[in-house]
Amino acid sequence: MTLGPAINMNPETIAAQAAHQIDPATGAVAPPIYLSTTFERDPDGEYSRGFVYSRSDNPNRHALENLLALLEGGDSGEAVAAAFASGSAATGTVFQALAPGDHVIAPDDCYHGTARLLREVFAPWGLETTFVDMTDADNVRQAIRPNTRMIWAETPSNPLLKITNIAEMAEIARSAGALCVCDNTWASPMLQRPLDLGADLVVHSTTKYLGGHEDVTGGAVVSKADTEFFRRVRLIQNLYGAVPSPFDCWLTLRGIRTLHVRMPAHCANAGRIARFLHDHPNVAAVHYPGLPDHPGHDTAARQMADFGGMLSFQVAGGKDAAMGVAANVRLFVRATSLGGTQSLIEHRASIEGPDSTTPDDLLRVSVGLEHSDDLIADLAQALG
Ligand SMILES: *Cc1c(COP(=O)(O)O)cnc(C)c1O
Repeated sequence: MTLGPAINMNPETIAAQAAHQIDPATGAVAPPIYLSTTFERDPDGEYSRGFVYSRSDNPNRHALENLLALLEGGDSGEAVAAAFASGSAATGTVFQALAPGDHVIAPDDCYHGTARLLREVFAPWGLETTFVDMTDADNVRQAIRPNTRMIWAETPSNPLLKITNIAEMAEIARSAGALCVCDNTWASPMLQRPLDLGADLVVHSTTKYLGGHEDVTGGAVVSKADTEFFRRVRLIQNLYGAVPSPFDCWLTLRGIRTLHVRMPAHCANAGRIARFLHDHPNVAAVHYPGLPDHPGHDTAARQMADFGGMLSFQVAGGKDAAMGVAANVRLFVRATSLGGTQSLIEHRASIEGPDSTTPDDLLRVSVGLEHSDDLIADLAQALG
C-alpha cells in the first residue's frame, strides 16, 4: 500500500482520496480487502513487503491508520495511529499502557463506558482516578498528585455537551509531567484537532462520525509522534489483538471519504434544531455549544471549526414527559449511538443504568442528514 502525497494537503483532500492510497499491485482506486491472515516470507527470512500476520498488521488496517494519522496530525507529518475493534478497546488500551499506581484525572461527564472501565476494570488493577468537572481548569489543577500521569478530556462531553479547554488541559498536563489525551469522537478531526492544541494523544470511537453510516464498530488511538507511550499502545494492540477486521477497516476508510461533507450538514441541522428547542415552551433546557448562552460557547468557538451534530435537551415535566417525547417521534429513531446519517434520539439515563448521573428528563439527539424541516416538524409534533 503506497502512501500518496497527502502531507500538507487540506483535510478535505486527504479524506476524499483516503490519503491517495492506490493499490500498488493492481492500480485499484478503491482498495481491495486483504483477507489473508498471513503473508509470505522472503527466502532470506525477511518480510520486505512489510506484513507478517494480520493481528500485527494488515494492509487495510495500515491504510486506515495512515489516514487517521494524517487527519488528526495536521501538518507535522509525525502523527501515528493504531486502529482497534471498538472505541472502548482503544480507550482501554490507553489506560493499560499506564502502570498500576498511576493516577488519571478524568471528566465527571464522560462516555459512561469510559467511566465504567476506570471504575470497574482499572481501579482493581491499581489505576487511581479522580473525576472532576473539567469546565473549570482549577478543578484539574487541584486534582494533580505526584503520581498523576494522564489528564483524559472529552469535549464536547457525553451527554451534557460540556466544553473543556483542550489547550489549558495540555498545559496543565505538561507542567505536571503527565500526558493529555482527548476523546475526539463527538467533534471528529474535521471540527477539532486536539494534537494541534497541544494534546499528546487522541482517542476515537470510529463507530460514530468517522464510519458515519451506523454499520461498523471501531476505534483508534492517534499519537502526535511515535513516542515511547505510543509504542506501548502498539504492543498492547498486537499482544491483546483487539484489532478491527479488514472489512471493518475498509468500511471505516470508505466512511471517512465523505466526513468533510457530512460534518457541516450535521452541524447546520443541529444548530437549527437547537434554536427550535431553545424557543419551545415544553423544553426546560437545551445543551448545545453553538447556542450563545451555552457556558462553553466561547471556548468551543475558539477550538472547534463548528459546534457539532450532537445535542441534548431536558423536557419540561420530568422523566415521564421525556419518555413520552421519545415514544412519540416518528422520524427520529429510538436508538443509542451517534454520528450516522439517520437522526437518533435516546433517553440517556435509562441506558446508562442505575449509577447514571444524567438528569432523567434528558433526551440525547444525534442529528442526522435528513432535511431539518422534517426533523423539526417531527420534534414539534412529539413535544405537543
Ligand atoms: C461511543 C463512544 C465511545 C465508545 O466507543 P465504542 O466504539 O462504542 O466502543 C467512547 N467515547 C465516546 C465519546 C463515544 O461516544
